[in-house]
Amino acid sequence: MTGEVVDRASLFRATMEAAQVGIFVMQDGVFRYVNPCLVDMLGFSSEEMVDRMGPFDVVVPQQHEAVRRELAARLAGEPGVPYELQLVRKDGTVFPVTVQGSPSELDGRPAAVGTVVDISRQKAAERKIRELADFDALTGLPNRRLLHDRINQMIAVAERCQGNSALLFIDLDHFKRVNDSLGHSVGDDLLCAVAQRFQTVVRKVDTLARLGGDEFIVLLPEISTPAAADVARRLLEVSAQPFSVAGHALTVTPSVGIALYPQDGKDIDTLLKNADTAMYKAKELGRNSFQFYAAEMNTATLERLMMESSLRRALTDDEFELHYQPLIDLPSGEIVGVEALIRWRHKDLGLIMPDRFIPVAEDTGMINPIGDWVLCEACRQAQAWIDEGLSLQTMAVNVAPVQFRQAGFVEVVAGALGASGLAAGRLELELTERTVMHDAEVTLGTLSALHRMGVCLALDDFGTGYSSLAYLKRFPVGKLKIDRSFIRDLEIDADDRAIASTIVSMGRNLRLKVLAEGVESAEQLELLRTMNCQMAQGYHFSRPVDAARMTELLRDQPFLYGIESWKKPESGSMA
Ligand code: C2E
Ligand code: MG
Ligand code: MG
Repeated sequence: MTGEVVDRASLFRATMEAAQVGIFVMQDGVFRYVNPCLVDMLGFSSEEMVDRMGPFDVVVPQQHEAVRRELAARLAGEPGVPYELQLVRKDGTVFPVTVQGSPSELDGRPAAVGTVVDISRQKAAERKIRELADFDALTGLPNRRLLHDRINQMIAVAERCQGNSALLFIDLDHFKRVNDSLGHSVGDDLLCAVAQRFQTVVRKVDTLARLGGDEFIVLLPEISTPAAADVARRLLEVSAQPFSVAGHALTVTPSVGIALYPQDGKDIDTLLKNADTAMYKAKELGRNSFQFYAAEMNTATLERLMMESSLRRALTDDEFELHYQPLIDLPSGEIVGVEALIRWRHKDLGLIMPDRFIPVAEDTGMINPIGDWVLCEACRQAQAWIDEGLSLQTMAVNVAPVQFRQAGFVEVVAGALGASGLAAGRLELELTERTVMHDAEVTLGTLSALHRMGVCLALDDFGTGYSSLAYLKRFPVGKLKIDRSFIRDLEIDADDRAIASTIVSMGRNLRLKVLAEGVESAEQLELLRTMNCQMAQGYHFSRPVDAARMTELLRDQPFLYGIESWKKPESGSMA
């Protein structure tokens, strides 16, 4: 009888010790027995564990609550089902297990027995399978399947935020030749090296995926058109250096097609197809280049990109110049001032007008150094004319919104005046209504500081923006320049006449000078005179001219009233 008991106990023990799963007995919150397999798994000795440690000592803290629930259920006599836990080894490493406990009894009191199975390998295998399903085995990049998920995600987000996104289709030119001449393993290594370089170009939120073969996709959520072009250009740039693979220096030239969401497609298939089409266009137009799917984008963006990069150079290379247009005092016909208008003499593109490059300069922040240069050059030229003995009351300089709001603008103006010696009262800054009305309180501070210095202020393109009359009264503005859109049809459009004459009389009431921009005909001029408009500017007198020609105009004063009307007998109303 006793022998049988001993035999059973040792059999039981031998079974526990040989088991390939962890086995424990637990009571009062501590382990009462742990088998060697569990000891191996956790790295604690059984002496360290038995009667000293409980489940909370080996389970990651985030799962303590779950363990508490399971223990309570076992105590209540509920049989357990296997569940997953993360255990912590003695050395601190964490590994996944499944645990199954069941209610039991030890020394006549409730206890729990349980098994613990290490599932690290199984988890690793699952991960591997997921990777195989989602990632390209060669490069480790997301594959076509994951790319589809990401595109769907991108479209969902873009729909919600009304954002723009871009999809770049990349194909390596003549890649087949590498495979054919050097073998597939060199080809594979080259693809990995290319993928690595491409990866350096994209942002964290972007997806670089391999479609298969030598085709890659870059997904750019939330991106502007020029920025997408910039990414394409950088993809070409990073490929420019030869790749060293298996002792060969290999050159790769990608061709990139860009489709934009939403305008070039609102679903995956359309976006991929159109980016592909654009990529073929890039190949046709000479490989190693990129193309947008929509043709207009190519010229617009390329011009802009070209401008951005050469704008930076333009200042140091002295490519800017100022032209001047006379400002005429209408009662007398005298040139009392000039407006400085910037031009960019580009070495390849010739003379570029400000409407084309000022917006780019504003976006890139280049407007500040350019604007500073304009101020200095205009003040220098004005003082040079005065030193020559020519009479010039006003040098008008246009100021861009960004430039006006930059910290230290007042100091820049003071610096330009100081360096040239020009009296502050002869400098007139032209601001648009939009510039002035934006953040009116801040604006008022800057305007007042300039006003105290003695600098004159004019509202340019007046009538096109929204001006509050209340502010007009508060702002120390001295001149309104009626926008040329109201002058163009002055002879035929009664509304324009009403607007122009309203601005003239309003200006008079507020004691502001009023100048009409864009005066092209004698008829327009005559109408403005009958409205008592004080000043005018426009092709009727002179187009903007270079400094040398302006010197002659200032000296000759060809528009003096009386003389001019004799000179122009065809201008009926004045003859
Ligand atoms: P704006 O200040 O309104 O300048 C007047 C524009 O009207 C000039 O164009 C001038 O050539 C044009 N214009 C003058 N008279 C006539 C006319 O009779 N008929 C027609 N159709 N046009 C006339 P421009 O030189 O191309 O300058 C365009 C704009 O670029 C300027 O408009 C101004 O806003 C901006 N700009 C020019 N120079 C600068 C500068 O140095 N800095 C900044 N921030 N902007 C500038
Ligand atoms: Mg102007
Ligand atoms: Mg204007």
